[in-house]
Amino acid sequence: MQNSYTINEIKHIITATGEIVSDAAISILLTDTRRINNPTCSLFFALDGRRDGHDFIADAYTAGVRNFVVNHQPDTIMPDANFLVVANVLDALQVLAAHHRKQFNLDVIGITGSNGKTIIKEWLYQLMNPERNIVRNPKSYNSQIGVPLSVWQINDTHNLGIFEAGISIPGEMDRLEAIIQPTIGVLTHMGTAHDEGFETPQDKLIEKLKLFKNCKQIVYNYEALLDHHEELKSRECFVWSRQFNLADLYVFSETTIQGKYYMRAIYKEKEIECLVPFRDEASVENAIVCWATMLAMGYSPADADERIERLSTVSMRLELKHGINDCSIIDDSYNSDIQSLEIALNFLNQQNQHQKKTLILSDIYQSGLQQEALYKQVAQLVSAKQIDRFIGVGTFLQEYKQLFDVHQKHFYADTASLLKDLSKLHLHEETILIKGSRSFGFEKISRALVQKAHETILEINLNTLLSNLNFYKAKLEPGVKIMAMVKAFSYGSGTFEVANMLQYNKVDYLAVAYTDEGIALRETGITLPIMVLNPEPLAYDKLVTYKLEPALYSFTLLDEFVKFAQEEEVLGYPVHIKIDSGMHRVGFEAFEVEPLCDLLEINPYIRVQSVYSHFVASDNELHDMFTMQQINIFETAFKQIEDALGYTVIKHISNTSGISRWPNARYDMVRLGIGLYGVDAAVPREDTGLQPVATLKTTVSQVKKVAAAETIGYSRNGSLKADGKIATVRIGYADGYLRAFGNGVGKMLVNGTLVPTVGNITMDMCMLDVSNVEVKEGDEVIVFNQQQRIEDLAQQIGTIPYEILTNVSQRVKRVYFYE
Ligand SMILES: *Cc1c(COP(=O)(O)O)cnc(C)c1O
Repeated sequence: MQNSYTINEIKHIITATGEIVSDAAISILLTDTRRINNPTCSLFFALDGRRDGHDFIADAYTAGVRNFVVNHQPDTIMPDANFLVVANVLDALQVLAAHHRKQFNLDVIGITGSNGKTIIKEWLYQLMNPERNIVRNPKSYNSQIGVPLSVWQINDTHNLGIFEAGISIPGEMDRLEAIIQPTIGVLTHMGTAHDEGFETPQDKLIEKLKLFKNCKQIVYNYEALLDHHEELKSRECFVWSRQFNLADLYVFSETTIQGKYYMRAIYKEKEIECLVPFRDEASVENAIVCWATMLAMGYSPADADERIERLSTVSMRLELKHGINDCSIIDDSYNSDIQSLEIALNFLNQQNQHQKKTLILSDIYQSGLQQEALYKQVAQLVSAKQIDRFIGVGTFLQEYKQLFDVHQKHFYADTASLLKDLSKLHLHEETILIKGSRSFGFEKISRALVQKAHETILEINLNTLLSNLNFYKAKLEPGVKIMAMVKAFSYGSGTFEVANMLQYNKVDYLAVAYTDEGIALRETGITLPIMVLNPEPLAYDKLVTYKLEPALYSFTLLDEFVKFAQEEEVLGYPVHIKIDSGMHRVGFEAFEVEPLCDLLEINPYIRVQSVYSHFVASDNELHDMFTMQQINIFETAFKQIEDALGYTVIKHISNTSGISRWPNARYDMVRLGIGLYGVDAAVPREDTGLQPVATLKTTVSQVKKVAAAETIGYSRNGSLKADGKIATVRIGYADGYLRAFGNGVGKMLVNGTLVPTVGNITMDMCMLDVSNVEVKEGDEVIVFNQQQRIEDLAQQIGTIPYEILTNVSQRVKRVYFYE
């Protein structure tokens, strides 16, 4: 059932050169060596991204991959490997996918627009799944690489494809069109946001419409394409509108009924209706697009209405939470299909905090594959990902249980029987992926396993963390290393969760403040080199046991470390030397460098791994002269030290703003701190390349009417200007929401509106003036996010973002997302 091409066929399709040394049948296209499951039938494309894919060929070879598309042969000899040489590896991937697409004559819906692409794709899948065998992008694989990998999945059992296409610069849509070859085009909501890659929103729209150039039929909103009706006239169009009464689907009435959204419309001169189980503006518009698409494809209004009413939310995110008995829980409520299972298993594999990895999986309802073939694939994936314990729920998994070659396995007919037995399984100290088809109600399992959270949580978006990392990587010259600062629980954002992500994405170094922080990372499986900024001599033994590298900043520290090393017979231990170039906190000063060199020269016990210093005000123009002076002092010092040592060391001085503002001071490594978490005074807010990773949210515990004459809170400090309402929320100074935010200084977002605090902040709660907002008990309240940023809060109380971020107390549960 899987696609298969011989390596010779592929060579011909992508017009490659290079010699085929051994025959191979290829069914899997690989672009990331961390995702190898089935090496013998995989073809690795050495793509040129932020990292050169050619650097990973050796890894792939070691893992058993023998087939490669490259733009030059590697220097090392790799017996039995086939190298297909092409001018451009990405082009080759796309050409291969386009060729594959051409082999099939099926309806393909191509979706583009600014917002809602993934939701609409998933909803159309839910809506048409009953009678179609559908292939679609896994998650939101909609890029120049994601689309070819998605299209590659088409096989002869499918009779409908649904693919979304996302672009960021001109020229990209033609390429995606050639791969997707859509027959039906669907345009989603067009935002007005200014996009970086395009001069005007109009340019972006024109680029997007290129997806539809060969479509037989196009579904769009009349108002979105006012300027384009002429050029589209020659095509079969299905137009929907809320204003234009001659549209194919004219929605003329919209009301809310019992929490649902009820719409009436004119279609083929008759009145039809549709009930949507969501009320927010975006979901309603997405639902109309689905409604129009179904009608355009010939579904009856009655079928469309009946199915749309049963639409369910689409969650693309994996949530990583603390579980009971020291477990970590990865909660994936996404549709269970084999592609999303693979993505979730990859995320599970990134986790190092517990040795044991457990998968709780339900039967998979995926059309297009024979059951046995499907479960064979699942079983193979489970062994490739080295799952230690497998818990299968459903009658199909039960039937095929002998396929699973796992150390510990348990099977249950349904969710209820698993729940009954849950305590007998003694789940503890393991990372558990919970992945189930919707009908299995796996949220019950998740509820039983996740530690109950007090309703104030700090959400950390790991994708954003990664894109921030890449934002800075892109600025660096090749070869410059990155040390990621994860001190103070990664600036309050987490411990192993953040470190795992950084390790998986190959930063070079981590830095923590104290030895204990380093030990905690080692105990959760972090193997990257770790520098300790403030090593305590009393903990040197632990430091060495856990292979942590001390930053030595004074003669006392250095002497004690050398003495320790001598006694323990430790030789050549990696250490870091800190120079004080102007901060005057810790570090060797310029005049101490000479005696320091005398000590280092003759010292067999340590090896100087790096020499570094720290900027005082790299973000601030006012102090640029001082910064230059720091650079000079640092350069003099490291030259002296390198001369004395007779070997070169890693040199580093730049923190986040240093990276942005002092390109000449990056030397061999940079120390990326707050920028990773989305804050950099040297990057303008409009630059969307950098985004805050954390959202602090809480909930409303009570709403009260309060008269102007009353006072609110301790010491009678608060009152309303006129009779009004207050909302009490579950966050106080013990959570890190400082007292300074009281009495109107601080603001929170309540259902989209920024409202001030009223009265003093108390230990566990505080009050908001919600006189002008619609709000009820249990509603979510945002303390900070992308809209009201950490920088804003810092400004409100006259502090810096660092303090806001690290203040969020450990009582506030952290929840991690990965999309
Ligand atoms: C915290 C810290 C950094 C990171 O600074 P940011 O401004 O957060 O990037 C770099 N170097 C040292 C020595 C630090 O203590």
